[in-house]
Amino acid sequence: MLRFGRSAKIAAIAFLIAGVAAIGLFQLSRAKCFQLVGEVTCRVQTDERLVALTFDDGPTDRGVDAVMQALARHDAKATFFLIGNAIERNPEAVRQLVSAGHEIGNHSYSHVPNVGRPQAFYREEVERTNAALRSLGVTPRYFRPPYGIRLIGLSRAVSEAGLHTVMYDVAEPDGSKDSAEDYAANILREIRPGSIVLIHAMNSHNRNARDALPLILEGLAKRGYRAVTVTRLLEAGGKAVTPDAGPSSSR
Ligand SMILES: [Zn+2]
Repeated sequence: MLRFGRSAKIAAIAFLIAGVAAIGLFQLSRAKCFQLVGEVTCRVQTDERLVALTFDDGPTDRGVDAVMQALARHDAKATFFLIGNAIERNPEAVRQLVSAGHEIGNHSYSHVPNVGRPQAFYREEVERTNAALRSLGVTPRYFRPPYGIRLIGLSRAVSEAGLHTVMYDVAEPDGSKDSAEDYAANILREIRPGSIVLIHAMNSHNRNARDALPLILEGLAKRGYRAVTVTRLLEAGGKAVTPDAGPSSSR
């Protein structure tokens, strides 16, 4: 009885430890400003009133048209984290973004969650998208993990490809529930000098974000902020990321 009680207790403790470890890994895989391998930037230290608006997913014609028009009205530049297979389907959208002076980052090839997969899979997710961008004359410097999820394998592949992971300190609100006004107000409330803002504006269900973007840009101008690329923001913070710098010298 006593022995059974003790082993049950040990099993319970082991179960608890495994549970805590699993929760810890889950949280760690989504951390905005920390990762186990390579460097990550979630905000830049600067006193200049600069922010980087970053647009994930796509490209889609709908998203690129709406976002480019709104940005152009404010002479704003942004960084677009694009998905490899969507780049291959719509290279013209990438050309438009680049010729308007926007910056393109790598957002994986197939946009699947990236834990528990073989290293070759991660490498291919990163490299295929880099290759698609290079074929369009774009040399990517930055990577943003799909769903913000990465542990060791993906981050290693990103580092090996000479890319720097860029997350964000200002997340968009739940666009499906908020009005465009609330969506914009939420973002404007959170921004500080050096903020990196995450926005999804490419897909059909992202209409609120597209409608909110002009309001966000007006609000930024009113507060004396300028929207710039991630590269420009990093420069303002004294941090330049050189393309293809390699894992040990990515800053
Ligand atoms: Zn995404």
